[in-house]
Amino acid sequence: HALDQTLTNGQSNTMEKMTYNRLRVAVIGAGAAGLCAARHLLSNPHTFQPPVVFETSGQVGGTWVYTEVSETETHQHSSMYRNLRTNLPKEIMEFPDFSFDPSLPSFIHHSEVLRYLEEYTDNFNIRPHIRFNCSVTEVSPVLKDGEHGQVPWEVSSHTQGSPHPVTERFDAVMVCAGHYSLPYIPDIPGIDTFQGKLLHSHFYRYPEMFASHSVVLLGCGPSGVDIALELAPYAQNVTLCHRGAALQWTPPKGVTLAPPVVGATPHNLICEDGTQLEADTLIFCTGYKYYYPFLEPQNKPRNLKEAEENGETAVTKGPVPNAVVERIGLLVETRKVLSGSAELLQSKDEKEFCDKNTNWLMNDEVVVPDEGQGHLPLLYKHLIHALYPTMCFIGACKIVIPFPLFHCQVLFFLAVLEGKCPLPSPNQMLLESHEELKNHLSLGLPLKYLHRLEIGQWEYNNWLAETAGFEPLPPVKKKMYETCRRFRSINPTLYRGFKFEVLSKEECRVISAECKG
Ligand code: FAD
Repeated sequence: HALDQTLTNGQSNTMEKMTYNRLRVAVIGAGAAGLCAARHLLSNPHTFQPPVVFETSGQVGGTWVYTEVSETETHQHSSMYRNLRTNLPKEIMEFPDFSFDPSLPSFIHHSEVLRYLEEYTDNFNIRPHIRFNCSVTEVSPVLKDGEHGQVPWEVSSHTQGSPHPVTERFDAVMVCAGHYSLPYIPDIPGIDTFQGKLLHSHFYRYPEMFASHSVVLLGCGPSGVDIALELAPYAQNVTLCHRGAALQWTPPKGVTLAPPVVGATPHNLICEDGTQLEADTLIFCTGYKYYYPFLEPQNKPRNLKEAEENGETAVTKGPVPNAVVERIGLLVETRKVLSGSAELLQSKDEKEFCDKNTNWLMNDEVVVPDEGQGHLPLLYKHLIHALYPTMCFIGACKIVIPFPLFHCQVLFFLAVLEGKCPLPSPNQMLLESHEELKNHLSLGLPLKYLHRLEIGQWEYNNWLAETAGFEPLPPVKKKMYETCRRFRSINPTLYRGFKFEVLSKEECRVISAECKG
């Protein structure tokens, strides 16, 4: 197994095995991340068998598949709305090895992104390897005497219309299931008494739905701002409630800014400063939670299931005793570590930290009170399962350029599987990831920002490229991204009128319709 070599410094005849024993990798999801994973797995047939890509829906594209749903429909993957145009120019968005149609403007309608992903799929002949209408329902590591590290996996999937799920074994699992599908809704006292309409931006589709409404939007991330702007000509009035530093722009006619909503009565929403807003619709633009139901706690690792069936108690070895047998994927391993029961933590300070922070880590509910994080395992370098490095999560990071980041993460993970890029031991990765979590929280930052890279994304992508030995992203991406963000923060109405042109790996220019050149 190629990873044996990575983890044990070549004690086995790994390379020889690798030649004859190509790795079988499961890819969960055929959105941009899963397609990118499949494209690179297919490009290395000496090491990898053709991947199996599982896709719940009947088509590729994930988020970029627009469907007109009813607001009451609960199982809807995509948050795409009818008029969405990208908030990044296509020159930044594209994968480094596949370009958008150059005749398109920089900021394109969502249907063009879907078309691009379909072309990408066909160009790299990915389609034959996708199992459409097939959902992964359970993923479990196959543990031998509690070892962790280079475990293989059992993946159960269910194809629409078939009577039984199928369970198959894989050497590695790439989770590419997205994280913009399960809305985060903050707890607002009195909201249950509010008589108006409540909606999350996930279910928003077009502005005509709110003709003559008095609409309040909570949250001014990209969706909050965009939806407020497109509602303005239709709604009676629009109030955009936001926290933190004042926005740098003057809102257009019909949009008012206000502090966050912190309470509600039957007809009013109460802002942090006591202002009461009369409203008949509240749209939560409050983001999403990580949600990977196939990693939920009912999915016990195999050896525990087998032991239970035989009436035995499963025993594991190693410095995180029993953690691995309880469940996979969520944060039990971390809980064990944080609660001080593992050898990794010793000091009193750390014990106090653990006691203080154990609750949300132990929380089995999907909702983590006022954090909005949802469940995600501890990830090494925002990517690799810290205890089971044969599992990775492509694209768990936030505030990034998604497609190029997927490209870097995929190439890094495949280099790890190939044995080209050694990882520290699982315990070391767990320790480092835990340190990172601790530092993050000690800065007073919310848990949900743990994988928010923002300005750190360039260094991160470069580190992945340098460590795994592939070509880094061209510096012009950073230049264009920062320019675009500056324009957007100054004028979220007009920034999409600019055209970005890449001149070289370092240089670009930006042209506006009014001011050519
Ligand atoms: P997704 O696109 O969500 O794909 C995940 C796929 O996994 C889906 O097809 C889903 O059906 C499948 N899946 C999930 N669970 C299972 C399972 N158990 N079994 C099998 N299949 C499963 N990015 C930009 O670069 N520019 C933009 O302008 C931009 N605008 C955005 C606007 C909105 C409203 C949103 C929500 C996101 C936007 N993004 C934008 C970010 C966008 O999410 C990423 O660009 C990218 O599409 C994410 O790809 P993904 O593959 O990680 O996830």
